Amino acid sequence: MKIDFTRGLNAPNQEFDFAFEWEHDKTMFESVPHRPLAPGEVRVNYKSDDEGIISAKIEVRVPFKFVCDKCADEFEKNLYLVSEEKIEPDGDEAEGFTYDSNGETDISFVVSQVVLSSFPQSVTCSPNCKGLCPVCGENLNYDTCDCEKNKTGKNNPFGELLGKIQ
Ligand SMILES: [Zn+2]
Ligand SMILES: [Zn+2]
Repeated sequence: MKIDFTRGLNAPNQEFDFAFEWEHDKTMFESVPHRPLAPGEVRVNYKSDDEGIISAKIEVRVPFKFVCDKCADEFEKNLYLVSEEKIEPDGDEAEGFTYDSNGETDISFVVSQVVLSSFPQSVTCSPNCKGLCPVCGENLNYDTCDCEKNKTGKNNPFGELLGKIQ
């Protein structure tokens, strides 16, 4: 979705607001297993400075389906974030988000970037997630397996040794 910042650019240092329903960019989300469950609610408050650089406060609320990094279980959680972003005129020196010569920006793209960069390095279903057994693949949050036991059991010479030490 395109947003036109002309009104703000013509009135530097004045604040403006807008709100819209955010649909995530499917190609951008191909790199992660997490998906929004519904369109997000986005509110933007912005102002331009005298140089035409826009400071935007972007508030996003969206229900998400996450996939746990450790056990691969899916879980639902509302994502809420507030991010301050700069949006500059398009040109050779622009490094981040930009608006074109008509004062327009693809705001859905900006929100997709902001949401993607808000994910923690590791997304887990709970801080205590036990993950999957590396040997048999059992989800250790629901069940136990004998892999650990066997490792220090009779079939394993080191296991016997460990038993003696203990
Ligand atoms: Zn988990
Ligand atoms: Zn196992």
